[in-house]
Amino acid sequence: MARYTGPSCRLCRRQNMELFLKGERCYTDKCAIKRRNYPPGQHGQGRAKVSDYGVQLREKQKVRRIYGILEKQFRTYFDKADRMKGVTGENLLILLERRLDNLVYRLGFASSRIEARQLVKHGHFTLNGRKVNIPSILVKTGDVIELKEKSRKITRITDSLDGVVRRGIPQWLDLDKDAFKGVLKSLPVREDITMPIQEQLIVELYSK
Ligand code: SF4
Repeated sequence: MARYTGPSCRLCRRQNMELFLKGERCYTDKCAIKRRNYPPGQHGQGRAKVSDYGVQLREKQKVRRIYGILEKQFRTYFDKADRMKGVTGENLLILLERRLDNLVYRLGFASSRIEARQLVKHGHFTLNGRKVNIPSILVKTGDVIELKEKSRKITRITDSLDGVVRRGIPQWLDLDKDAFKGVLKSLPVREDITMPIQEQLIVELYSK
């Protein structure tokens, strides 16, 4: 699956908010949003009038960028969320949270979703005891994500686990740090997803 390979900080500046795409750097003074808090590009510091469509588009782009998903796959998630029972926008966010790379990040094995995706692709984890290397797998309630024995000494993973205290583990997940194992205890509900997202705008955008 293709992925965005351009500069991450540019995406935050475009969204005018911290998307935490670069791990530890995001918590330091080197964060580009702290140093240049205006949109990138030649006209970044000009005043732009934003239409309703522009607001909806920006919200969709924000969510795509947080989870590192390209347009086509994001649309597939939306269509799936739309077919599910319940509120489409909430279904969409819950589907995204269930991605394996997101859970590896949430459990603290990686300092960013980008890093989590790479670790999964390189085969460092098992899911319910089986080898996995597909970041987009949707994890189910009760599934166990475990770091392989041979990967337990990788410094960036152990550093990330040590630093997870700052981010905190969501209450719908359970991490056994000593066993390098995490469990999806229950599916998150909307209130558990605390990032500033207005998912209704995405529904409006795709419903045009
Ligand atoms: Fe975004 Fe992190 Fe770059 Fe700051 S350092 S602009 S939060 S990716």
